[in-house]
Amino acid sequence: MSLIETESIILRSYNLAEADKIVVLLTRDHGVVRGVAKGAKRLKSKFGSGLEPFSFVNCTYFEKDTSDLVSIQKIEIDESNFAAASDPDFLQKFSYLGDLLVSFLAPHDPNETVFRMVRAAITTAAADRATLPAIGVYFELWLLKLSGYLPDWSKCNSCGNDFREGESASLLSNSHLSCERCRKSNRRLGIDERNLVASALKLSPDAFSTAHAADIEAIGNLSTVLKTMISQAIGREVAAEKPFALTV
Ligand SMILES: [Zn+2]
Repeated sequence: MSLIETESIILRSYNLAEADKIVVLLTRDHGVVRGVAKGAKRLKSKFGSGLEPFSFVNCTYFEKDTSDLVSIQKIEIDESNFAAASDPDFLQKFSYLGDLLVSFLAPHDPNETVFRMVRAAITTAAADRATLPAIGVYFELWLLKLSGYLPDWSKCNSCGNDFREGESASLLSNSHLSCERCRKSNRRLGIDERNLVASALKLSPDAFSTAHAADIEAIGNLSTVLKTMISQAIGREVAAEKPFALTV
């Protein structure tokens, strides 16, 4: 049994026994961790409001050799996102994105890049709810990229030539792109959508959402394509961005 302290983001929590909660955390040092917070449902719980979804906290927990479920000892709030998480649009979007994280990441497998991306995405959307669509597509793109599911969309998968400025690209069933000379399909990935991808791969969430605040249509189109790829990657439908049954 070992005691671990790590910076964490609360992804969600749900009721367990009479007084307890299960909490799903994205930790900086140990990836996705599920833990029991004993007595968290009591009025005077030692966890206070530290288990609110999307809060940035310092979490101390015991890890047992015999169980995947850790025992949460202490939560210190670094930054509460309570106001943002009370907004239904924010809650819905990040519940969906949190679900994707849990689907993509193996438990107890840390990923510093993912942790920093998630933290920056929450901070950006919490400060300005108008950035939610841009942040959503950014998040989807980076999850695919970091999990190895995003093909190189800068060039044709058949001839290897880079796409020229304004050249149209066919989206193949394996999610690779092809130039018109090599292969055509009925699906296209337009230049605006490809520009979004190139931009998201080099900008921070904040800079990306500022640069593309007006590109609502391209963001929607790209997100539809990415959701199909995500479904293929995790083997189930993700089309509906439905909120979890969150217990706040
Ligand atoms: Zn080609």
